[in-house]
Amino acid sequence: MVMRPWNFSAGPSALPLEVLQQAASEMTDWHGCGMSVMEMSHRGKQFTQIRDEAEADLRELLGVPDDFEVLFMQGGATAENAIVPLNLIGRNGSGKADYILTGIWSNKSHKEAQRYGDIAIAASSGAEATLDGVKQDPWTWFPKVQDWKVRPDAAYLHLCSNETIGGVEFADWPDMASLGAAQVPLVVDASSHFLSRPIDFSKASMVYAGAQKNAGPAGVTVVIIRKELVGHALPVCPSAFDYANVAAAGSMFNTPPTYAIYIAGLVFKWLKRQGGVAAIQAANIAKAQALYSYLDDSRFYVSRVHAASRSRMNVPFFLRDESLNAAFLSEAEAAGLMQLKGHKSVGGMRASIYNAVPLEAVQALISYLQDFERRHG
Ligand code: PMP
Repeated sequence: MVMRPWNFSAGPSALPLEVLQQAASEMTDWHGCGMSVMEMSHRGKQFTQIRDEAEADLRELLGVPDDFEVLFMQGGATAENAIVPLNLIGRNGSGKADYILTGIWSNKSHKEAQRYGDIAIAASSGAEATLDGVKQDPWTWFPKVQDWKVRPDAAYLHLCSNETIGGVEFADWPDMASLGAAQVPLVVDASSHFLSRPIDFSKASMVYAGAQKNAGPAGVTVVIIRKELVGHALPVCPSAFDYANVAAAGSMFNTPPTYAIYIAGLVFKWLKRQGGVAAIQAANIAKAQALYSYLDDSRFYVSRVHAASRSRMNVPFFLRDESLNAAFLSEAEAAGLMQLKGHKSVGGMRASIYNAVPLEAVQALISYLQDFERRHG
């Protein structure tokens, strides 16, 4: 049996060991064809099969409706921050788009979009914002749906449904008609909780995700978009980023990231073997509950995210005595618990407990938290 340390990286992050082992065994000769997947033409019959199975498995896992395209793109979620407005802001002639700001990633999306049109903030959990009339620590909560102000003629509304750095998650997406914005499609950056829970495609018209958390290695970006939103790109949109071109070419408008798509396809098959998205969601709930309830019961550690908005995937937490941070991290590594350092903008610690991080890893982390507290508390 292969022994590896537990990996709590926020991304690129842990992949299922079975997937890595299968990829290793197929590295030099894929299914007896005498070539590595890296060496194949993307237009050949072998890679066409790999791509088609990846899309079919992803559609099955998420129940993607037939009126949505599934696109495999490049540039990461960061490129989508530009690609989204380039494709969508011209769709209804208003040139407007609205953004919900809940942390670093949604702020980046909002900033980039400002280059392309009239961009407004529909809601925010920043320093100036209030929840029930009361100011809060910024980016530690998600604005209530009834407080969102969406312009009815906006070309789309954008939100980030899991803020990887702040550890804030929001998955109960509203019906846009209930906001007086029935014509406004909801566009969601789901990068860091993609495939960790079901997606309601009756609420979101577009969902995108960089693969390097739950879906595979860095290099491929999954875009799932309602077909009627495709075909409205601004004339300045680069051809390789025009959803219409990518869709018409089956994600082969140019050479796709073939190896990343292949590994993502193996991850999709692994997820099906785990019982699919509902089963992985149940496991993710159990993992998150175990960790948050330990943190909440402790007087040594603290989670600062509002309980209702806590991410199941990314768990930032702090030692109350921050002078112990360096010792905490070096002793964690010695105990086989890797990549627990918090993002530099937040500080403290962060445990990312994605699909490929099992309950056993979370239990090992909790034992370490207890042990460290006993020795230093
Ligand atoms: N959005 C979210 C929610 C993310 O977590 C990340 C990356 N961590 C990005 C966007 C940016 O993704 P990329 O680095 O792949 O461009």
